[in-house]
Amino acid sequence: MSKKLYIETVGCQMNELDSELVVATLRKQGYELTDAPGNADLVLFNTCSVRQHAEDKIYSALGRLKHAKRENPRKIIGVLGCMAQKDQGLIFQRAPYVDLVVGPGQLHQIPKLIDDIAVGGGQKMEVSLERKDGSREEIARSHESFDPLRDPSMRPSPYQAYVRIQIGCDKFCTYCIVPSVRGPEQARHPNVILAEARQLAGEGCKEITLLGQTVNSYRHHDGERTTRMPDLLALLHEVAGIERLKFVTNYPKDMTDDLLQTVRDLPKVSPYLHVPAQSGSNEVLKRMKRGYTVEDYREMMGRIRETVPEAAVTSDFIVGFCGETEADFEQTVELVRESRFKNSFIFKYSPRPGTKGFELFADDVPEDVKKRRNNELLAVQNAISEEDNQPFIGRTVEILVEGPSKNAVKHGHDDGPILQLTGRTHCDRIVVYEGNRRQIGELLPVTIYDANAFTLFGSVVTRETGPELYTLELAK
Ligand code: SAM
Ligand code: SF4
Repeated sequence: MSKKLYIETVGCQMNELDSELVVATLRKQGYELTDAPGNADLVLFNTCSVRQHAEDKIYSALGRLKHAKRENPRKIIGVLGCMAQKDQGLIFQRAPYVDLVVGPGQLHQIPKLIDDIAVGGGQKMEVSLERKDGSREEIARSHESFDPLRDPSMRPSPYQAYVRIQIGCDKFCTYCIVPSVRGPEQARHPNVILAEARQLAGEGCKEITLLGQTVNSYRHHDGERTTRMPDLLALLHEVAGIERLKFVTNYPKDMTDDLLQTVRDLPKVSPYLHVPAQSGSNEVLKRMKRGYTVEDYREMMGRIRETVPEAAVTSDFIVGFCGETEADFEQTVELVRESRFKNSFIFKYSPRPGTKGFELFADDVPEDVKKRRNNELLAVQNAISEEDNQPFIGRTVEILVEGPSKNAVKHGHDDGPILQLTGRTHCDRIVVYEGNRRQIGELLPVTIYDANAFTLFGSVVTRETGPELYTLELAK
């Protein structure tokens, strides 16, 4: 009889990918997914440590399972990912009914650990070495990239997939826990990446998003041969079946001219660049140890606009970082105004024990000020996003159709042949339109008739579904 697995994932795309791979591996062990943690034989939380809030959510979710574990002591509860690496044994102290703690560099051990627990082996913990616990090579070896099997059913759409090209990070921005919990920066071999892309294309995947914390810094040495990001994109561009290539997250200092020219020249590479600025103030950037000034960032934006004028650029910002004054914040607002990002992710600074920022600087911006700055910056960004979406009205864009729209799912209107569908343009804009289920996974031209800050609304005209036929089908 199959066993039931419930998995909850928080955090970034790396975590989403890790969860897909864990599920694919556990299916081989006879597990089937369920969306009810209460009935599951195995409950896994794939966790994030970037902000306190993400950790609090997991500890509350664990709290809710205490009773279920008492009712069924054979239920296995596991905590995976960044919080597992950061908190380690503390998780067993705070939630003694947890059976398993596994850091992001040890995920390959999960099947064996679960077998051991199931036969009465007791609590198990596998984490990687900490950054101070050995030589760079030893620490790197203890953070293994986990990319064995893919599971299209775990992805929101089988036509899109993440592919990891780099693990870890060596930048050590002072606010950030990632270099501690995900270990040293390591590049995957280009041949392994290419093989994975071919496999995904063979399974019908059309869009690949390459993942790395500083993805554009990708550099792989193999004897005399060095492969950089432009080379890797050129290799992947040749994979038949892959129609779109995206990559996140970029580090501003490594946005080289040849990479921008590659984005311009290779038609499958999306004109979409996520390049977090974090702040518009040089004082703050210095305390964050980001390694660039706001002038450097502006210069980079200038080169992007010149080389790939149609590119959609997006950013991340942290408001209320230690010592951020009103004047510093105003400079961030100014940077957002002039950069005209497609959208920005804005976060309130969350002090993280184990980072340099936590050690060196006081978290001295009050919570209400952080909240106000967050809302203000978001309002400025949203107004720009809305303005910049308006010129799309009347234009025809090509979208990759992903599946039912959020609205269709929410209202239970996602099971008929005609439904509201969602897709993305090459430059990563979300498009919603009424269409036919069989269009899912196709690249289609859609004419835009309305737009707000987050979404373009369109209608589709295809060979199979001309305007008249389409109206008839809808009327049925
Ligand atoms: N590697 C990417 C980069 O360099 O931008 C992203 C890493 S992080 C998982 C994603 C975003 O979370 C960052 O860009 C930053 O804006 C935000 N972040 C990281 N640490 C944070 C902290 N301590 N408090 C608030 N936001 C944080
Ligand atoms: Fe964190 Fe900075 Fe590395 Fe991004 S570049 S993961 S923000 S340390």
